[in-house]
Amino acid sequence: MAGGSAPAGTLHAWCSVSLLDQAGLGDGRRDGLVAIEIAWRHGVISALRELPPGADPPTELMLPRLVEPHAHLDKAFTWADHPNHEGTYAGAMAANRQEHATRSVERVVARAERGLQLAWRHGLRGMRSHIDSLGPGAACSWEALQDRRLLWRERIELQLVALVPISHWSTPEAGELARQVVAAGGLLGGVLVPPCRDAQTRRGLEDLLALADRLGCGIDLHIDEADQDPAAGLRLLVQCLDRRPVSVPITCSHASSLALLSARALAQLADRMAAHRLGVVALPLTNGWLLGRRPQQTPLQRPLAPLMQLQRAGVVVAVGGDNVQDPWFPGGSFDPIALMAASLPLAQLAPWQRRGLMPFTTEAARLLGLAWDGRLQVGAPADLILLEATHWGEVLASPPQRRVLVAGRWLTETGADHNAAASGS
Ligand SMILES: [Zn+2]
Repeated sequence: MAGGSAPAGTLHAWCSVSLLDQAGLGDGRRDGLVAIEIAWRHGVISALRELPPGADPPTELMLPRLVEPHAHLDKAFTWADHPNHEGTYAGAMAANRQEHATRSVERVVARAERGLQLAWRHGLRGMRSHIDSLGPGAACSWEALQDRRLLWRERIELQLVALVPISHWSTPEAGELARQVVAAGGLLGGVLVPPCRDAQTRRGLEDLLALADRLGCGIDLHIDEADQDPAAGLRLLVQCLDRRPVSVPITCSHASSLALLSARALAQLADRMAAHRLGVVALPLTNGWLLGRRPQQTPLQRPLAPLMQLQRAGVVVAVGGDNVQDPWFPGGSFDPIALMAASLPLAQLAPWQRRGLMPFTTEAARLLGLAWDGRLQVGAPADLILLEATHWGEVLASPPQRRVLVAGRWLTETGADHNAAASGS
């Protein structure tokens, strides 16, 4: 076992066969898991082998440190002061606007620090956060989060996305915002509100695509977060790209109303999305809470990105947590294991299957363009989450105790150092 300050160690753990990029390691005969001995040295994995038959079974289950592909650090933990008790999209927007007008650098720093500390302790190594980038709270939110990005860069790679109404990209202010985003290594974002048939929406999207392409800047859209007008935003986006393709990566967050398409229409659209290399982040918690809501009725239809159909077409799909204790969703805690457990009944993603685990692991890392996709192999970073669990049931029942290894050191060691540095800012 690792201990003290030595950046080398060995441990035994259950590991998903789908995360082991090494031929001959296990056949997934036990819950998709195989018992592994893993060793590391100087921050990287130095050896991996299957435990021989007869060895004591491990008491922990191992994952790579994980990635949150879609968060909103600027508004996290605002539910108490700005609740949305009716749980509607309109109610969330109204409470969000009120909260936005009360922002200060200090408030956003406090929220982001709380969120990042939780994420760090829970085993996240990367996070993409959208920022409300129009209105009175925009400048202070960017100031706070740009600082956090730099302060946290050794612990969590933080990517920032400018979130504005899509039509903002047609205004004279668009260029200045885009330059600010590029300087922060961020992405251009925007909300497309269905039915997306107006000229302003089309022009805003075209202008965004052209601007991002010119600047070489990635795009992450809030698109088709709706329980009506199936795929109105995605259809518009694909049309625009058919006419004028771009070379920058595009992520489509939500894509919920695609679930309302017929199987045939969905298959056709998914093929075109794959051809344009569009990635999708499904957000089951916020969608499950806000969408399909009718007064005094339990929803029988739950719009959610059709993950498996998109995977079959070759679209990269990830699952994100989205809102944490804000007007859009009252729960959440930046815990990827809790997200996995909550997604089980909502999306029927089974982590013992490769395609069920990928959206939380390798595909989330790919969507963020991270250097390491999370597959465990010799030479990969010694970045691990060790869960007190011997099978997936114990992982999913309630988030188990965990310890986190970062570049070959246990988080309690590195956490102390980094926390001291951060609190001095
Ligand atoms: Zn969002």
